[in-house]
Amino acid sequence: MGTEARAMMLVEPKHFSMTSIPTSDIDGGGWLAVEATSISGADVQVWSGEARDVVYPLIPGHEVVGRIASAGPSIPYPVGTRVVVEPRIHCGECHRCLNNLATCNRRRPINSYGFIPSIEPPGLWGGLAETLYLDPSARVHEVTDDVPAEVATFVHPLAAGHTWAVELPLLQQGEDVMILGPGPRGLAALIAAKAAGARWVGMSGLGHDRDRLDLALRLGADIAIDVETTDLAGAIAEASGRRPDVVLDVTSNDPEAVFTALDLVRSGGRVVLASTKGNRAFHFLSDVIVAKQLTIRGAMGATTVGYQWAARQLETDPRIDDLVSHQFPLSEAPRALQAAAGLLGREELISVAVTF
Ligand SMILES: [Zn+2]
Repeated sequence: MGTEARAMMLVEPKHFSMTSIPTSDIDGGGWLAVEATSISGADVQVWSGEARDVVYPLIPGHEVVGRIASAGPSIPYPVGTRVVVEPRIHCGECHRCLNNLATCNRRRPINSYGFIPSIEPPGLWGGLAETLYLDPSARVHEVTDDVPAEVATFVHPLAAGHTWAVELPLLQQGEDVMILGPGPRGLAALIAAKAAGARWVGMSGLGHDRDRLDLALRLGADIAIDVETTDLAGAIAEASGRRPDVVLDVTSNDPEAVFTALDLVRSGGRVVLASTKGNRAFHFLSDVIVAKQLTIRGAMGATTVGYQWAARQLETDPRIDDLVSHQFPLSEAPRALQAAAGLLGREELISVAVTF
């Protein structure tokens, strides 16, 4: 490892600058030599300026795979081990950490890789850099060497998919799950729900999601519906014969999806909301929650249990190879963000990674 790391710094929304940041002189923690970082919808929001409370400049990217380059006592693996780093850092002492929430606020706006401003020492808090700082509280998980690094980044959406589709709704074998939104996390939730023994899993998306919906069918979805051309409730009734036990909203910034989820789910069912709506207000009728006696969970981030499951799934599931469709080198990070935002076209777009 060198004494400096090349980094793509986001100086302000949509304005990257390649820079070098020193990697010496840390107390505790360690350094990760980054191999690949996938670009999520949250990264696109940081890049475009739509994310709340973000302070620039920062280095985006929180779905990182790399090899441990230097390790203090907090790192449970030797130098050279390939790991994924949980994006969320948990100080373990604030009221949010003590309540087991995903959003530690020891650092602003949230204590998470890809969101911490570069003025916070030692500056290397994002995956769009050759080196990532491993905070003493960071949680890392060993992942297999047998897949390309960009494929290994899919552990991150897989972990979230397991947390949201299996852990939070307490999914039982034989239950039906409807997933709204066929992005990487939606596809990951499909894999996790099927692996957990769901009887039936449906997926929905928009017209421009055609390739993602086709992939959902190849991954075992029982239906994959374009809601712009097909009535979703009718399609579910025809295909499964009953209302889903669990509905998961992982759409991209679509307030309507909340109503759809509450409408589709069976009485007594569970709704997991894992997608924010750009802070927009909308007219809301709560009676359906009472009348149908629903359980609603808000979901942020993946649990450590989710990461452990995802790291095992990566070793045994060759279908994950198909889930990273686009790769760019660090110097083309601006194009990677554009691709992830769908601005370079959505044909064959599944997910995007930057590789080193
Ligand atoms: Zn905390």
